[in-house]
Amino acid sequence: MRVWIETNAKMAKQDYYQALGVEKSASPEEIKRAYRRMAIKHHPDKNPGNKEAEAKFKECAEAYEVLSDLDKRKQYDQYGHEGLRGIGMHDFSRMNVEDISSMFGFEDFFASVFGGGGRRGGPVRGYDLETGVELTLDEVAHGTEKTIEFTRQDRCPECKGTGAAPGTQPTRCPLCGGSGQVAKGGGFFQMVSTCPQCHGTGQIVKNPCPTCRGNGRVPKKRTVTIKIPPGVHEGQGIRVAGEGEPGHDSGPNGDLYVYVRIKPHEFLERDGNDLIAVVPISFTQAALGAGIEVPSLDGTRQLKIPPGTQYGSLFRIRGQGLPDVRTGRAGDELVQVTIETPTNLNTKQGELLREFAQTENKNVSPKSSSFFERLKRHLGN
Ligand SMILES: [Zn+2]
Ligand SMILES: [Zn+2]
Repeated sequence: MRVWIETNAKMAKQDYYQALGVEKSASPEEIKRAYRRMAIKHHPDKNPGNKEAEAKFKECAEAYEVLSDLDKRKQYDQYGHEGLRGIGMHDFSRMNVEDISSMFGFEDFFASVFGGGGRRGGPVRGYDLETGVELTLDEVAHGTEKTIEFTRQDRCPECKGTGAAPGTQPTRCPLCGGSGQVAKGGGFFQMVSTCPQCHGTGQIVKNPCPTCRGNGRVPKKRTVTIKIPPGVHEGQGIRVAGEGEPGHDSGPNGDLYVYVRIKPHEFLERDGNDLIAVVPISFTQAALGAGIEVPSLDGTRQLKIPPGTQYGSLFRIRGQGLPDVRTGRAGDELVQVTIETPTNLNTKQGELLREFAQTENKNVSPKSSSFFERLKRHLGN
């Protein structure tokens, strides 16, 4: 199986209700109207060359895909974007405008607004799908293999994708003669648009297949096992060729994009390929120096803290970060120490510290001594 890493990180997901400008309580009909309104507003035919509008247009389609489907909407309402993982959503960012315009049964609608359009006859590549995978930092460090389960619309096994009941065949559409397109108007100016009877397929199904109700496709759970290389980042996509939806008319399958999410680690935070650990030490350890235990990817490791360590000091452990996804070169682990001031001293400890305080002078605490000297000067004493 061929797998590769996408360079572009996927940005944070939008709120679907906001994208369509509807309330959370909106009815299916309101959602449909809102989608049509927003899709026209941002349609690239209306905003030529405007990348932002095109991105908005695709966001609206994604929002509509979820909110127009009762199951997906319920999952989204209850669990947010998390709830949609593994459902096998279309990857709209990679789809072209014509394909999106003809989805959800809106081909005629967009054709009537913008003219032309609709699906051409002949082989068409299947749509790309996207899903997510969650990795631990340890899996990121070493690379891993993951089995991903997702649902996709597969060719109906009963009718072999034709949509016609077994024993019957789709027939050529009488309105367009099988071309999928009809011409409107006469004379010099002719408008070509998608055939309203066959929706551009050029074929009519008289007896629909009972399994797929004439769609030619049925949702099917699939599992794929993918190898995830070490060093991937949050939001990176792994493309699995040919695991998207099947194409039309023997067109090739689309691809599946698996987007990476990384579970937060209890002690380590990622900064590029470096890892950062914040470790509290006692003030005596800071003053006297100590060997301390610090969290690392493989458990813990020893770190020597020199005498006189200050609050916030950073120690670099070379090569103990994450590998670079391209070069494999390891980043570093950075340990930042914080110093805890003792509380609840017992009598003995209090005495010892008071005794120590009396011996304190410039040499022991040069910074605070000079600070208080400067402050005294400032106040004119
Ligand atoms: Zn079927
Ligand atoms: Zn037709």
